[in-house]
Amino acid sequence: MLLNADLNQRVVINSNEIPWVDSPMAGVQRRMLERDGDEVARATTIVRYAPGSYFSAHTHGGGEEFLVLDGVFSDEKGDYSAGTYVRNPVGSTHTPFSKDGATILVKLWQMSPEDREQKVIDSLTNPWQPGLAAGLEVMPLHTHATEQVALVKVGRNNSEYYTFRAKYIIAASGIIDYLPMLENMRNVYDYAGHNLHVCLICDGYEMADKKVGVFASSAGNAEVVFPLGWFTSDITLFTQGLFDVPDDLRSRMEEHGYQIVETPIEQFLGENHQMSGVELKDGQVVDLETGLISMGSQYHATYLDKFDLEKKGGNLVTDKMARTSHPRIFAIGDLKVGLNQVVVAAADGALAATQIWRDIRRSTPPKKAAHPLPRQ
Ligand SMILES: Cc1cc2nc3c(=O)[nH]c(=O)nc-3n(C[C@H](O)[C@H](O)[C@H](O)COP(=O)(O)OP(=O)(O)OC[C@H]3O[C@@H](n4cnc5c(N)ncnc54)[C@H](O)[C@@H]3O)c2cc1C
Repeated sequence: MLLNADLNQRVVINSNEIPWVDSPMAGVQRRMLERDGDEVARATTIVRYAPGSYFSAHTHGGGEEFLVLDGVFSDEKGDYSAGTYVRNPVGSTHTPFSKDGATILVKLWQMSPEDREQKVIDSLTNPWQPGLAAGLEVMPLHTHATEQVALVKVGRNNSEYYTFRAKYIIAASGIIDYLPMLENMRNVYDYAGHNLHVCLICDGYEMADKKVGVFASSAGNAEVVFPLGWFTSDITLFTQGLFDVPDDLRSRMEEHGYQIVETPIEQFLGENHQMSGVELKDGQVVDLETGLISMGSQYHATYLDKFDLEKKGGNLVTDKMARTSHPRIFAIGDLKVGLNQVVVAAADGALAATQIWRDIRRSTPPKKAAHPLPRQ
């Protein structure tokens, strides 16, 4: 796999907007930021360990360094809580695990073999130093030859937004649809949002009477083929081997004359952002005129997790004024249960703002005239 692998190219990624990808180990998922290689790779990755998950024993052929972002990450040498920086030199071995869950930012295969230092630094207690520019603070972590590793704190001292207090929150941070994960994601981005759609309700009419490929990641997501059948009967479901097609779904699809392809996809085919088919890993080509991705969505609402709000699936449950199960938190648009459409999101915003105004208004009595009129 080559992902942002040219280190001469500047790359900016919002890691919250890329999907978690399963690793070969159960409960261990990754957000790949940079990668040159397959399972053994020079790589920069955010790795999430579910509670009780582990990775098999391995040797760091090119060294490893990681920063624990969340939870407690462990190996046979110790437990590393959030904020801990660990450096394991070339040739080191460990069996990592997390008892209660953890997220780490990890770099692999970037170390010099001569750099033999093993390090564990608790960045929560280690001192910060003034940076070169105003508003910057630096915590040097490691230096070897031309390599320098440091944490940099930007603008925290003077930022007017460091702590933003509010009596009410309107959560409007939306979702992002998961896309098929191919080795060359550029190939997916070339067509997604053009004739490779993500929304049946918004774009179903564009697929009317066309040969449509449906790309699903679970049997539940694959059910979209039936409402899609209202627009077209020429439907091929691509599972990519991500799930086993239940007998019931298979027979209903057969009954409707829909095809199922379970071989993983090598690449989408087409030109000028118009997808015209897919090439499978076995070299077979399936011609298509359009496509619908149904692989679920990532909800941008982890900042609300601590409030334990009522949810249905990943969506926040709200009342008719967009209020969640917390009286001062409102959720609008795609985050909440309901239709994912622009006008719905805008209307939700108006409802939430109106309800907040009502709450505030009701907590304060109406203004009285300073000089009441004399009684008649
Ligand atoms: C390809 C595609 C086609 C669509 N076509 C249609 C259509 O034809 N008609 C229609 O009505 N709808 C369509 N939709 C759906 C429509 O876009 C959504 O329903 C609508 O945009 C939802 O609005 P929202 O405000 O809930 O979320 P969004 O529009 O997703 O806005 C959320 C914003 O919050 C930002 N954000 C997320 N996390 C944070 C954070 N922590 N801090 C700060 N900012 C953050 C995101 O970057 C984003 O800008 C389509 C969607 C897609 C993906």
